Amino acid sequence: MTLPEGLDSGQVEELSERFGPNSLPRERPRPWWLRLAAELGHFFALMLWAASALAFIAGMPELGWAIAAVVVVNGLFAFFQEARAERASAKLRELLPSNVQVRRDGRTTVVGAVDLVPGDVVLLTAGDRVPADLDFLQASGVSIDESMLTGESLPVPRGAGDAASGGTFVAVGDAVGRVTATGSATRLAEIARLTTRAVPPPSPLDLELKRIVKIIAVVAVTVGAVFFLVSLLIGNPLTGAFLFAIGVTVALVPEGLLPTVTLSLAMGAQRMSRRHALVRNLEAVETLGSTTFICTDKTGTLTQNRMSAVEVWTPAGSATIEGHGYAPEAALDGPPEALVAAAQLATGAHAASQGDIEEHDGEWRAVGDPMEAALAALDRRLGGAAEGPIPLASFAFDGERKRQSVVLDGDSSGPGAEAQQVPGTVPATPPELWVKGAPEVLFDLCLGDRARTTPGGTQASARSAGHGAGVFEDGGGSAGDRRGDDAWRTRAGAVLEELAARGLRVLAVASRSLAPAEAEAAARGEASAVVLEQGLVLRGLIGLHDPPRPAVEGAIRQAREAGIRIAMVTGDHPATAAAIAREIGLIDRNSGDHKSGSGAVLEGASLPEDLQVLGALLDRDGVVISRVTPEQKLRVAHALQGRGHCVAMTGDGVNDGPALEAADIGVAMGRSGTDVARNAADLVLLDDDFATIIVAVEQGRATYANIRRFLTYHLTDNVAELTPFVVWALSAGHFPLALGVLQILFLDIGTDLLPALALGGEKPSLGVLKRPPERRHLMDGSLMFRVFAVLGPVEVVFEMTAFAVVLWLGGWRPGGDLPSAGVVAAASGAAFTAVVLGQLANAYACRSASWPAWRLSWGSNRMLLWAIVVELGLLALFLFVGPVARLLGQGPPPLEGFVLAALAIPGVVIGDALHKALRHRLGRGRTHPVLPHH
Ligand code: ADP
Ligand code: MG
Repeated sequence: MTLPEGLDSGQVEELSERFGPNSLPRERPRPWWLRLAAELGHFFALMLWAASALAFIAGMPELGWAIAAVVVVNGLFAFFQEARAERASAKLRELLPSNVQVRRDGRTTVVGAVDLVPGDVVLLTAGDRVPADLDFLQASGVSIDESMLTGESLPVPRGAGDAASGGTFVAVGDAVGRVTATGSATRLAEIARLTTRAVPPPSPLDLELKRIVKIIAVVAVTVGAVFFLVSLLIGNPLTGAFLFAIGVTVALVPEGLLPTVTLSLAMGAQRMSRRHALVRNLEAVETLGSTTFICTDKTGTLTQNRMSAVEVWTPAGSATIEGHGYAPEAALDGPPEALVAAAQLATGAHAASQGDIEEHDGEWRAVGDPMEAALAALDRRLGGAAEGPIPLASFAFDGERKRQSVVLDGDSSGPGAEAQQVPGTVPATPPELWVKGAPEVLFDLCLGDRARTTPGGTQASARSAGHGAGVFEDGGGSAGDRRGDDAWRTRAGAVLEELAARGLRVLAVASRSLAPAEAEAAARGEASAVVLEQGLVLRGLIGLHDPPRPAVEGAIRQAREAGIRIAMVTGDHPATAAAIAREIGLIDRNSGDHKSGSGAVLEGASLPEDLQVLGALLDRDGVVISRVTPEQKLRVAHALQGRGHCVAMTGDGVNDGPALEAADIGVAMGRSGTDVARNAADLVLLDDDFATIIVAVEQGRATYANIRRFLTYHLTDNVAELTPFVVWALSAGHFPLALGVLQILFLDIGTDLLPALALGGEKPSLGVLKRPPERRHLMDGSLMFRVFAVLGPVEVVFEMTAFAVVLWLGGWRPGGDLPSAGVVAAASGAAFTAVVLGQLANAYACRSASWPAWRLSWGSNRMLLWAIVVELGLLALFLFVGPVARLLGQGPPPLEGFVLAALAIPGVVIGDALHKALRHRLGRGRTHPVLPHH
């Protein structure tokens, strides 16, 4: 059986013109008016509507209209912010690569899934997403996970002739399929048209924001009700009490805050994507910031995933191979019989491999998995044909089995044929099974010494072994322990340890001949791998070199500084894992081999059952867990979460989905790894590099800090807005109102808006990775203290002083008659100016949680500079342009008023600096003295 030629380039061009790209039609967004309506109906908007209604009831229709207008303007603002954030995340989704192996022009190449056309022949393997609707031409042992279409969680077996829908996943097996429909013609597109998407469950950030809304609502309602009563009791007229309730509501609602949160997450996500970290949902940005434990795999994440087979050991001797990259030429070294045995072994391993090598502009590249490609290169280097033998059937690799096997036709040009075609005999060689995988696993599937030396030799016993496990027992003895004593096993075991200790990834290759009936059953997809993969003969070991990524060592050091613990969680051999871990500084370089070392090197199979015990065992830095299965990964995630960790876990395999979903942050690879893993992940590393996780954590922390920044900024304003009403109410109207409702609204959605946005875009400070991670509420005690006991009161002092002094200058005396409207307007203008200028200083104060504003560089947040220019422009507009000023009930203050208002700038900066210094003295400033900005 051979692979189909596939379409030729002419056909592809023609078909792609006719059918267009293979992409789903854009998900129809909710109609814009529905989204706008949602913005006008959320909690804060409802509070404002209520305030507007109160204004009408209290006979102040202008105010009622004005508040209603503000709700609409604010809703529009939120609407556009959300749309911007949505566009940003849509762009991110487009970055997610999705490639497929296709046959075109008689060759296997990789193309983007969007470029598929009907008629294309695609090659799929376990873990792949089915890229379009297709019919299977060949399928061996294939099961399809259709849960995303049908909800059925168990994979369904499929064979040649069956159809598969785009969007499903290959759970097991390898298949070749012909595309029948692409893009909007697929069943998935049909279903997408019919169903509306389910609402995702709320994320931690959602809950946190809900909490903030609740706190503010409770405060507003309580303050409103209490002072409403108080103001009635002390003899205010009813309208005054109403006005008061309205004012309190408007002052406390943080207009524009929620969309700013979304937008700042979107900006964080965009920054991450520029550095190759792609988040699949915006909330992950925030969760990343609180990561305390990273479980990373080794191959491809810590290492470069540029593999080359450098050593082949066979029972006939060792061969050393020196080649460059994936080029088929190489220098060989070793005794001739070893090279011959190695060549056979390599051809078998190549046949069982999913990858290949391809020349492109004079450079050889890996097609598919780099390790598999390295096996193809090895075969070529040892003299094998360009196209390896085509299997009759194959059993895919997964992290649980840790092996992969193929059935080869005896008459094909397979390694068996070369080996057995003795001149003069009939070339009717039996079909063969070739297995490659983790050595310890394969050793246990191989025949013991006695079976290998039964009369008739290896082939005879291997062939008869095919008839059932009985021969295996007769020949080799059934005791598994006994097989450990076999001489071949001892020798191979020693070689394995030696290669692994050099940091090489070691694969074992074994084979046996099959009875024709077995091979036929396998080709029909009716044989089970477990039954076939028995009574094998070990052909040898391959040592693959895969150097660590250069950035990893530094990233590990950074993670340590940031208080994040790291564990290597790998399917590889303990000695290989330990050698690499030592090389990158994850574990102590001077620790001995993995057995005698610091004990930080564990094996998956020996992890304790009890989750609490497991958590206690793993909860330290620099643990290596080797020979791990996907199921054990899941338990590791749960155990660490049980210790209160926020766990990021990488995964690339078919079965890694559950572990990735269970982890707080599932991390998948953009280049290598399976579609299944990417589908389950929150974060995709476009460059597969471990260091990128740390970059993402840094951005996540920065974004979280930014949200706290503008939350602090916004809430401070609320204190300055609320105070005039409280003072006014407590004075029973004898002290005029310093700020009116409209002024408050113009502060919140006028002058405050841009600086808050700019704070949301603050770049990560250098110190952000120098402190331990913290998992705290956005609106926690320290934030509230800063707002309500420091920044807010300072701002209020300047606001009220400016107001009172201008009143005084206008002739007003405490206890005397109310001043004229003109005087109140000028005084109110002074108060307004004081708040705006105080907020200007506050914006700079909020840029750092530990450094005084003047220590920060002015230019490092350009957007903030612009925001402040606009803020000052708006201030001038609100003060000096007659109609606007009259609407707001204010006017330009006298010079003294300006001076007092301007003093708010140094006032806030100094007040804030004193608080920071004091907190630092008291040791509560958790932060290192690292200057946040250059
Ligand atoms: P890692 O954490 O290094 O990515 P894996 O779970 O991918 O580990 O692999 C575990 C072990 O299974 C490897 O050490 C190797 O011995 C074996 N193995 C990995 N990939 C394949 C494959 N494609 N075919 C056969 N064996 C494999
Ligand atoms: Mg792997």
